[in-house]
Amino acid sequence: MIKENNKPMLPGEHIASIEEFEGGKNTYIASDGTVRSAAVGTKVYDLKRRIVKVDQKNSPMLPKVGDTIVGYVDMLFSSMVSVKILYINDKRSDAGFSAIASARVGARGDRDRRGGDRRATFHTGDIVRGRVVSLLNSTVHLTLAEKEYGVLYTLCFMCGGDTVRTNENTIKCVECGAFEERKLTHDYGKETFRLIHKAGK
Ligand SMILES: [Zn+2]
Repeated sequence: MIKENNKPMLPGEHIASIEEFEGGKNTYIASDGTVRSAAVGTKVYDLKRRIVKVDQKNSPMLPKVGDTIVGYVDMLFSSMVSVKILYINDKRSDAGFSAIASARVGARGDRDRRGGDRRATFHTGDIVRGRVVSLLNSTVHLTLAEKEYGVLYTLCFMCGGDTVRTNENTIKCVECGAFEERKLTHDYGKETFRLIHKAGK
């Protein structure tokens, strides 16, 4: 019985323990005694023979250093954001890769509601553009710091309405009038995202 898992594996990623499975094609045994992936691809388990391999056919395009990424913020940490990748160099990517970036860029000294000086320059759901700066530890690291990077479009956090830029790092909801601070791209707006969406099809 063969079972395939569609989640893309990166080189070095944990697949199984050696007690569970023997490593097949495109795998290696790490020093901690686990079976790990030696390639980008999907895991294929042979449950009868207890062998797991990594299949490279249909392997998704992995981002490279220097690539431009468009995605959405799916998680926020105190100083980092996690970005689910939607486009790599304007081509749609369905592989489901995530990237991380430092959230401490852009907006100048804005204060949160409790009066602290933690910078809130990104929110969950923001569409962001960044550049891949490193693939250290099989993690895609982005920078969002330059003028073409940051939030390129987002909906109003209050009402879900359309938003427009009012100055360098502020957007305003056209429905309810709420203002929000963000680290924006120089070409912020719905039209920019629409063009990327169109080009990536
Ligand atoms: Zn609104």
